[in-house]
Amino acid sequence: MVRAEQVRKRFGRHEVLRGVDLSVPTGQVCCVIGPSGSGKSTFLRCINHLEKIDGGRLWVDGELVGYRQRGTRLHELKPSEVAAQRREIGMVFQQFNLFPHMSAVENVMEAPVRVRREGRSAARQHAEHLLERVGLRDHLRKHPAQLSGGQQQRVAIARALAMRPKLMLFDEPTSALDPELVGEVLEVMRQLALDGMTMVVVTHEMGFARDVADSVVFMDDGVVVESGRPSEVLTDPRHDRTRAFLQRVL
Ligand code: ATP
Ligand code: MG
Repeated sequence: MVRAEQVRKRFGRHEVLRGVDLSVPTGQVCCVIGPSGSGKSTFLRCINHLEKIDGGRLWVDGELVGYRQRGTRLHELKPSEVAAQRREIGMVFQQFNLFPHMSAVENVMEAPVRVRREGRSAARQHAEHLLERVGLRDHLRKHPAQLSGGQQQRVAIARALAMRPKLMLFDEPTSALDPELVGEVLEVMRQLALDGMTMVVVTHEMGFARDVADSVVFMDDGVVVESGRPSEVLTDPRHDRTRAFLQRVL
C-alpha cells in the first residue's frame, strides 16, 4: 500500500529526510518510532502530500504520490489530481483540530458532504455509525468543548474514516492526552487494525507497537536505521542507535 524508495526532503539547507526506504503491505500496521527531530512527521506528511519530496519515489496503492510516470519521465499531477489522491488517505494528528462550532456528528459528516457531495442524510447516517464504532454513541450531539481529549480524538478518527480512506496515518495520536485517556484511543486504533485497515502510526506507545504492529521502523536523523517485526526491533535490536533509543523510552 505504501512504498518509499530513497525519499528525500530538505527545508532550506537542512536535509530532514536523507533517503527513507519503507514498505507497508495492504492491511498491515507499521509503527514508526525515533527521537524528536528524526523526520517522522515530515515523512508522514510526504505520504499525504502535505510536503513535496525532493528526491526518491513514493507510492500509495501503486500510484506515485504527486506524479504520473510517462516512459521514464515524471509529470506533476494537477492540483485536482493531488486532491483526489489525498482524499484516499486519512490523517490523525496529535492536536485533534475539530471544528469547535460543530457537534461530533457534524464534524464527521462535514467532509463527505462538502468534498464528496454525499447527501446530508446518508452522510449523517454513516457519521453516526462511525461514532458508534469509536464508542461515542451517547455523545453524537456534543460539541468538542463538551468532550474529553480522548473523546475528541476518537471523533477525529471517525472524521478521517468518514472519507472511506484506504490508508490511515497517525502522528502521535495520544501524545496530547492525559495518561488515563490514552487507552481508549489506542483501543479504537487496535480495532481498526483488526478490521484490516492499512495504518502508519508514529507513536511512543511501545506497548501498542509490540501488540498491534506488523512492523516497526526506527528512524534516526532522516533515515530508517532498522525495521522488522516488533519482536525483533523492540526486544532484540541490531543497531546501537536503536538500543540506545529504546533504553531512553522504555
Ligand atoms: P518529533 O518527535 O519531535 O515530532 P519528528 O521526528 O516528527 O520529531 P519532524 O517534525 O519531521 O521530526 O522534523 C524533522 C526536522 O525537520 C526538525 O529538525 C524540524 O525542525 C525540521 N522541520 C520540520 N518541518 C519544517 C518546516 N516546515 N520548515 C523547516 N524545518 C522543518
Ligand atoms: Mg513529529
